Amino acid sequence: MVAIDGSRLRAVNTHEKNYTKGKLARRRAHVEESIARYLAELEQADSAETGPATPRIEHLTERLASLRGRLGELEAIGRQLEASPDGQLSLTDPDARAMATGRDHRGVVGYNVQAAVDTEHHIVVANAVTNRGHDRSHLLEMAKTAQAEIGAAQMIALADRGYYEGEQIRSCAQAGIVPMMPKPNTSPAQAHGFWGKTTFVYQPEADAYRCPVGEQLQKRHTTVEAGKLINVYYNQKACSACPSRPLCTSGKEKRIRRWEHEAVLDEMERRFEAMPDAMAVRRCTVEHVFGTIKGWMGATHFRTRGLKNVATEASLVILAYNIKRAVAVAGVASTLKAITG
Ligand code: SF4
Repeated sequence: MVAIDGSRLRAVNTHEKNYTKGKLARRRAHVEESIARYLAELEQADSAETGPATPRIEHLTERLASLRGRLGELEAIGRQLEASPDGQLSLTDPDARAMATGRDHRGVVGYNVQAAVDTEHHIVVANAVTNRGHDRSHLLEMAKTAQAEIGAAQMIALADRGYYEGEQIRSCAQAGIVPMMPKPNTSPAQAHGFWGKTTFVYQPEADAYRCPVGEQLQKRHTTVEAGKLINVYYNQKACSACPSRPLCTSGKEKRIRRWEHEAVLDEMERRFEAMPDAMAVRRCTVEHVFGTIKGWMGATHFRTRGLKNVATEASLVILAYNIKRAVAVAGVASTLKAITG
């Protein structure tokens, strides 16, 4: 069994040297505002003075020249930003990206370090570095690498809800990997105070949903959303006469959408409910690794630049962690013997 998680580590690139279109527009507006203010001051000083330029006028002229230079720099950055496929530009380390973290509202400009950790000995069996800030596209890659390293035909992969993505979960199941993670609560109906999808029970034998008042919602039509085939279930007749409709929907009838392969997600949910300590095991396993790497080894930011170099740096740090962990688990002599063969 492995636990998969990602941690964002800072790059050699400050927030000030990372640009998005929004940030650039704010900075340009700020500079233009300052230019307008200095111009007004200069006009005022000019009309008050009749003799040669005073130090005040010279100061204002210098500031204006500097601000116009800054505006030119921002315009050049804007042109580079236009060419950037993901709408971000990092000036010191071009591969670094601004990404959200749970702790800092500004997030970090850095990289996302992914690790798959063996839950028994807390050894990192697979690692990767990416500049995509989210985790949802990394489950399959990390789980498959870990599975190949372990050499297991079947392997449980624990992850948090950030990794929840239907196609990734389905591909894991097809590869002999048993993914386990909680379902994120993304029900828009629930967010608006209506009964969420979890209160509707799918009945596979009838290919229908049973609603909270016991009515059956049948499959009515199919649609494609974000490349996925979605079946839509509803029962107009039952909803039109239902006294509970204000709790259920703001529309004429409640509609439930179901991905054609959603059975694989239902199956994972059943497994997840049968293993109540899954998330505690995941947390203990991965927090130990990232906690040790950041706290004990002091690796909170990268010293190299560029995705390739940063990935090598991360691999070296994780190798050092693994050696330290192997010594703690097996002792110095056994670890040395294993290394030297
Ligand atoms: S509104 Fe429709 S789906 Fe909702 S509880 Fe009533 S019958 Fe069931």
